[in-house]
Amino acid sequence: MRAVKRRAAWLLHRVLFVCCATLLPFSVAMNAENDYAEQRARLLVDIAGMAASSASYTGRSSFSPRVMQAIERVPRHAFVPESQRAHAYENRPLPIGEGQTISQPFIVALMTDMLEPRPDDVVLEVGTGSGYQAAVLAELVARVYTVEVLESVGKRGAQVLRELGYDNVHTRIGDGYEGWPEHAPFDGIIVTAAAPHIPQPLIDQLKPGGRLVIPVGPSGGVQTLVLIRKHMDGSVTRSETIPVQFVPLTRTAD
Ligand code: SAH
Repeated sequence: MRAVKRRAAWLLHRVLFVCCATLLPFSVAMNAENDYAEQRARLLVDIAGMAASSASYTGRSSFSPRVMQAIERVPRHAFVPESQRAHAYENRPLPIGEGQTISQPFIVALMTDMLEPRPDDVVLEVGTGSGYQAAVLAELVARVYTVEVLESVGKRGAQVLRELGYDNVHTRIGDGYEGWPEHAPFDGIIVTAAAPHIPQPLIDQLKPGGRLVIPVGPSGGVQTLVLIRKHMDGSVTRSETIPVQFVPLTRTAD
């Protein structure tokens, strides 16, 4: 009888050990996810504070709850290189390789808010980069088309988007100056690289009633974040917001 009890105790011990051994990595992963969620919550507070303090330049003292929720949902740490993970939820741009950067989260929130995205919209992004801005948009609209000129960067961004299940994002390698005519017209267009002037193909591919957000100015210097509105009669108006610094929009023909 004692032998049976001993065997039962040994078995229980084995079972518990096996369970713990499999639960441990799971709980470490859960803790990391909770950490990131907490860091993301702090980032949202930071973005809200910056929105309030820059209201006189941007014309908006807060961002729409939908935009803030999208920022809260997207795991920015998944879009930055391993070496930058610890900084993923700091409110600043980070290097993503090949001399390119993932934009400051405040700027992503601001540009997204300026676009005023609606659930049925189809949006074009020029400059896929890490894929982060495309993911934020994908949380808010029906479909996102995003173009990246650097093949290695674009492929990596596309892979992260795919792995995270953003299947309403369509990626392409090419020169975004030309837009993506096959899927035009777009309800909104967002350019995340600085152009010396507003590319005419992008204005042409905007729907009447649509919005284009783009940093305009010299490469390597300070640019202005510009909002273009296309009216129902096809005319466009331009308004300028805050000074920004983006990597340049490069042309494949350069
Ligand atoms: N939206 C990105 C930020 C990327 S930085 C993110 O969320 O991470 C700007 C990106 O624009 C770079 O990856 C750069 O290679 C790309 N780019 C520059 N010129 C371009 C062009 N003509 N067409 C498409 N992408 C371009």
